[in-house]
Amino acid sequence: SSLEETLLSSIRTIPDYPKPGILFRDITTLLGNARAFRRAIDELVHPYAGSKIDKIAGIEARGFILGGAIAHQLSAGFVPIRKKGKLPHETVRVAYSLEYGLDEMEMHRDAVKPGEKVILVDDLIATGGTAEGAVRLLTQMGADIVAACFIVDLPDLGGRAKLEALGVDVRTLIA
Ligand code: 5GP
Repeated sequence: SSLEETLLSSIRTIPDYPKPGILFRDITTLLGNARAFRRAIDELVHPYAGSKIDKIAGIEARGFILGGAIAHQLSAGFVPIRKKGKLPHETVRVAYSLEYGLDEMEMHRDAVKPGEKVILVDDLIATGGTAEGAVRLLTQMGADIVAACFIVDLPDLGGRAKLEALGVDVRTLIA
């Protein structure tokens, strides 16, 4: 079957989670499906095979799972971008917008060196607020952001356009 069918059929939709009226796209079923997980990772990495990528930055928490697999495939390092208060060493922190209100995320100050080539990874982009925060952190540290990669794009929510307006190359597998 096509990649799109494989991925779409392995993602489960949960109505009214985490709040009434929200349709949550549950990718744990994709991760649990050996074939779908492998195909998603292969498809995300293939444009970068052979290019030198220094770091994969993954957004807590599902971006860690995908980012670890992608880092291994590209022989890159892995950098966690976490909710505030979780990282033990000196951090850079940024506020980012959620659907209602603000939260903060951070990364270690020494996790990325200026000029390093970094790919940002998360499972899904919706409004783009989370990914935009991560882009701001990486930019502050002088990273060269090669691309931001997601399995799922929810195009009606405008996240891809928001990142592209910042000059970031966005790669998604299904909408
Ligand atoms: P955004 O900041 O783009 O509005 O929301 C994206 C962030 O929230 C990502 O970290 C993503 O993991 C999470 N998220 C929002 N909606 C969903 C959803 O329906 N399914 C999944 N798996 N994650 C979601």
